[in-house]
Amino acid sequence: MKVLFVSAEVTPFAKVGGLADVAGSLPKAMRQLGVDIRVVMPKYKGVENARAELRRVLAGCAVPMPGWTSGCALDEATLPGSDVPVYLVEHNDYFWREHIYGPPGGAYPDNLERLSFLCRAALAVLEPLGWAPDVFHLNDWHTAPLAILVRQRGLPHATVFTAHNLGGGYQGVFPGEQAWVLGIDASQPWTTKFLSPSQVNLARAGLTCADMISTVSPTYAREVRDPAIGAGVDDLVRERGEDVWGILNGIDYDFWNPATDRFLDPADGYANFGPDDLSGKAACKAALQAEMGLPPRADVPLMAMVTRLDAQKGLDLVRAVLPDLSGVQLVILGTGAHEYENFFAQEAQVRSDVAVALKFDERLAHRIYAGADMFLMPSRFEPCGLGQMIALRYGTIPIVRATGGLADTVHEDGPHANGFVFTDYSALALRAALDRAIAAYRDKRLWARLVANAMACDFSWGASARRYLQLYEGALAKKHL
Ligand code: ADP
Repeated sequence: MKVLFVSAEVTPFAKVGGLADVAGSLPKAMRQLGVDIRVVMPKYKGVENARAELRRVLAGCAVPMPGWTSGCALDEATLPGSDVPVYLVEHNDYFWREHIYGPPGGAYPDNLERLSFLCRAALAVLEPLGWAPDVFHLNDWHTAPLAILVRQRGLPHATVFTAHNLGGGYQGVFPGEQAWVLGIDASQPWTTKFLSPSQVNLARAGLTCADMISTVSPTYAREVRDPAIGAGVDDLVRERGEDVWGILNGIDYDFWNPATDRFLDPADGYANFGPDDLSGKAACKAALQAEMGLPPRADVPLMAMVTRLDAQKGLDLVRAVLPDLSGVQLVILGTGAHEYENFFAQEAQVRSDVAVALKFDERLAHRIYAGADMFLMPSRFEPCGLGQMIALRYGTIPIVRATGGLADTVHEDGPHANGFVFTDYSALALRAALDRAIAAYRDKRLWARLVANAMACDFSWGASARRYLQLYEGALAKKHL
């Protein structure tokens, strides 16, 4: 089977959030199942940071846009540790910019045109490459224009649309007057499901046009059927019924491995560790406290967040409980909404037990997962969440709200308990969960068991990759009905 995996972000070439992690790891797992899978993404400024070898494979390729012809060049690299090809679409006006989608908290005004171009380029390069996929695996609204094109033109490829986030701000909604850049034939009756004179909604386009659909955890797949979480798309999710699968994300167990993590540099006091010897984790905690300017206290629980600073992430709850919280240290690594950046920066200025880094920093993220005792994810909604899985891998105990993938991966009760879970979206419920976690931390045997359970979890891709293979097969079967 041949699959073209289309994504606007792919680790290690460009990353904003969890989509990049998935795009950088799932294709490797599919390759191990024998799928000829290739990845296509924009060639952004910053891809050179991936330290991957780029090879020019197409010097020039015409890309038809609605009403004019543009063009791109194409570089090829591979996903690290694999032979999965990554095609990087070069168009400097669109992609060689400081940011991926726009400055923190903002968006470039021509994002619809940039992504329409990416999708059209992904189609245009196939003939000169001499390779054609059976399935386009499209990821999030950024790539939905390709699902529209395949359906509109009756192309032979099957399409799978994976929704990594269907929340309010993540549906790719643009004013109707911009929609022309997608080249939609509005005489097709099905276009009314995502296109109106006032707006186009690309998540709805993906949900309408793709042969099969997935989202990134079983619980979220159920939750988005409800308007409370799937507002704006819940009707379509219900309409597509059995075509919508919930497949839990995995993480790259080579990249996220406390035993080999190269970011845990001994020169800075960090150390590798594994479930049988946690002395390295204690060293990481001390090194992290030193790096972040926190008092060097082994006995005080160190709690962390590594996150986009977005309302989705439950930051208003953190803001509400923080003033009364004592007896813990808090480290936050994140960028995003100014409202939260300002709040946390001010807290860090006046409190010695709060440290904040307002930046995107892969190395520091690894060091925080390794050095923290607890990892906080009180999300309002969370399609899957990778942070809690990464934290578990590093023996860092998640404290989460029971929503989406957080509910599928973190359990407070039973012999396999690996974290702390609260249900109500309220400061009171979060505070109670924090108190339970802090009390458990003081009980050394209980805490050791939690850490052992956490590190025994397996969130590698194996099982989920086999589900994706079934999803591809399902899409092909539907296409050729
Ligand atoms: P989302 O996709 O909603 O952002 P996830 O938990 O699924 O949330 O994935 C977040 C990913 O992005 C994780 O790999 C996390 O470590 C990473 N990340 C988020 N913010 C930062 C940051 N400021 N610096 C480094 N990594 C970050």
